[in-house]
Amino acid sequence: MFFFFVGGVEQQVRQVLKYGAGRCITCGSKADLVEYEKVLKAFFVPVWRWPGKEQLLHCNDCNLFFPPQLSADRTTTAVADQPDVLRCRFCKEAVEPEFRFCPFCGSSLS
Ligand SMILES: [Zn+2]
Ligand SMILES: [Zn+2]
Repeated sequence: MFFFFVGGVEQQVRQVLKYGAGRCITCGSKADLVEYEKVLKAFFVPVWRWPGKEQLLHCNDCNLFFPPQLSADRTTTAVADQPDVLRCRFCKEAVEPEFRFCPFCGSSLS
């Protein structure tokens, strides 16, 4: 006997917790912080659904779910980047402005 199973598990938004809480990691538009649920579908009919464990960000434009850390990482690194610190183009280490060569990787800074 051969049973051909058409279906799979999909993620769906269960409840929006905060609109525009983050940014989509692929298209850059606003993403909502959501509680999601997993839906098992067979022949395109939902047969079983259960809530996801953690909260995710969801982009409406590309229908993508991703963990908030991915979006948060971008914002924190952008804030932590001090503009008045000169950084080596090659190894990204902070170097003194009067240095002509990077002390970390030896690349020319000029
Ligand atoms: Zn997107
Ligand atoms: Zn360097």
